[in-house]
Amino acid sequence: MQFLKPNSVTRIFRNFYNFHKKTTIFYSTKTKNDSNSNPKKLPPNIPDLREFLIVNRDLSLKSNKSAQINPDIPGYLEKSDFSGRDRKVFFEVYGCQMNVSDTEIVWAILKENQYQKCDDPKEADVILVITCAIREGAEQKIWHRLKHLNAMKTKRSKKKSPLQIAVLGCMAERLKTQLLEKDQWVDVVAGPDSYKDLPRLLSLTSHYGQSAVNVILSADETYADVMPVRLNTEAPTSFVSIMRGCDNMCTYCIVPFTRGRERSRPVDSILGEIKSLEKNGIKEVTLLGQNVNSYRDLSQSSELESENNLVPGFKTVYKPKIGGLRFGELLQQVAEAVPEVRIRFTSPHPKDFPDSVLEAIKNYPNICENIHIPAQSGNSNVLDRMRRGYTREAYIDLVKHIRSTLPNIALSSDFICGFCGETDAEFEDTITLIEQIKYNVAYVFAYSMREKTTAHRRFVDDVPQEVKIERVQRMMNAYRKGAAELHSRMVGQNQLILIEAKSKRSDAEWFGRNDANIKVIIKDCDLPVSSCGGEDKKPITSGDFIAVKIVDSNSQVLKGIPLHHTTIQKYHENFKTNRTSSSVK
Ligand code: SF4
Repeated sequence: MQFLKPNSVTRIFRNFYNFHKKTTIFYSTKTKNDSNSNPKKLPPNIPDLREFLIVNRDLSLKSNKSAQINPDIPGYLEKSDFSGRDRKVFFEVYGCQMNVSDTEIVWAILKENQYQKCDDPKEADVILVITCAIREGAEQKIWHRLKHLNAMKTKRSKKKSPLQIAVLGCMAERLKTQLLEKDQWVDVVAGPDSYKDLPRLLSLTSHYGQSAVNVILSADETYADVMPVRLNTEAPTSFVSIMRGCDNMCTYCIVPFTRGRERSRPVDSILGEIKSLEKNGIKEVTLLGQNVNSYRDLSQSSELESENNLVPGFKTVYKPKIGGLRFGELLQQVAEAVPEVRIRFTSPHPKDFPDSVLEAIKNYPNICENIHIPAQSGNSNVLDRMRRGYTREAYIDLVKHIRSTLPNIALSSDFICGFCGETDAEFEDTITLIEQIKYNVAYVFAYSMREKTTAHRRFVDDVPQEVKIERVQRMMNAYRKGAAELHSRMVGQNQLILIEAKSKRSDAEWFGRNDANIKVIIKDCDLPVSSCGGEDKKPITSGDFIAVKIVDSNSQVLKGIPLHHTTIQKYHENFKTNRTSSSVK
């Protein structure tokens, strides 16, 4: 280490306050050699003396023009120290698709820094747990797992092959340094916007045996410059993250506190990733974002520049957002760039479904006729307490408008029961909404209060757990009845499916998904290579588009007879599909 000259000391202490403000490295004050299980009294975001002196050594060197210091590397480790040196990482992913997509970003960053991936936690040098904070139960599950991993870590410490545990994602962001309070369970805590810092955080712990935390939320991080590396190279489908964060501030939701403000990834970077996925054999991409249809690329101008995108009857807590390239235009550009790749998107908010989005679905056969439109409740008072920005009537009007534009659209939704103060009568409105709309898929949940949310500050979580459980069951029954009816109308139709894998039940069957994202089971066989029939046949395999005739259905699954191999464009030419008229006979 290079030592500082005495006259540097005054400057150092003058910089000390600024250092605290600027640094993104927060430390646990406990080292691995510290036998005292209670952390020392310093607050966890105060750097220790060694950190302070070494960073200032770097500042001193930077001011010396002859010194060769890379200004991109903060702190006291050289870039070579960030190398994983072929250490093996194991990923454990919990929660939503966004976490799956983020894990591919994390893997790209670590791979670039000489880490290897392994499929068995017992072989790993680093276990990264990518977490979810949406419900209490999700966090309990992760605490349980961390306890188990800590037992593995203790065993390994006796065998001279130390194991590092890193907690990433929403729970890391929510709990921050609280995750370090359990005695040495966790080495690294990294929030969703600090994944580029992971090589440094991991090397800090391996070099100095200290825990490292970075939970700074960013106003502009979209990881646009990181090309994700796929974890499951067998699947013909992939997620593509297009925006991050949420500005809606629904009163029950922790997401704005764990994922930060909305920001969108530039369109060129999205198109680049999707074209590269297509080259690598991907046949379906799901565009992802916490509020995906609120997408707004401010680096681009748009024909809809001056328009407010908000659906009539819907309102927001923020001022109308004007300008930038919007979601409908992005859908159109993606559909044109990769006409043989199927496109889905999730998770949207109902307020952001202007006609430009519906027109894109109508005009491009590779955009699936499938919209997720989370209602959350069917009662206007509950929706108001949830701060969803719409009434039951406005939501129903939107669904009617969507169905009049796209008669064959498949709808899915999310519902929460037992939100603060929800009466029996208010809950009945949710049941009647599910019965009236009829969804192909619904995700139903019992409300779980989260600290920091507006509901936690303003309301009381007063619906008993047993009532919530009973209401979940009733929502499930209502949705399944509607789904069974919708799916029975598909019997007799020809549909296009994308084959994903062999059926879990039988090796003699494959499963694929139709536009509505419903599983379709077909038997394994050789099929004509085109709709013309003839002798030329080939086997079915993952990633094939197959034309099928639906012959059976229930609320969850369809059965089909496979007809022939096809492509998206050929299928729509052959069957003259028309998205503006109903296919129900
Ligand atoms: S739209 Fe509402 S529920 Fe969805 S992430 Fe944003 S705040 Fe949460």
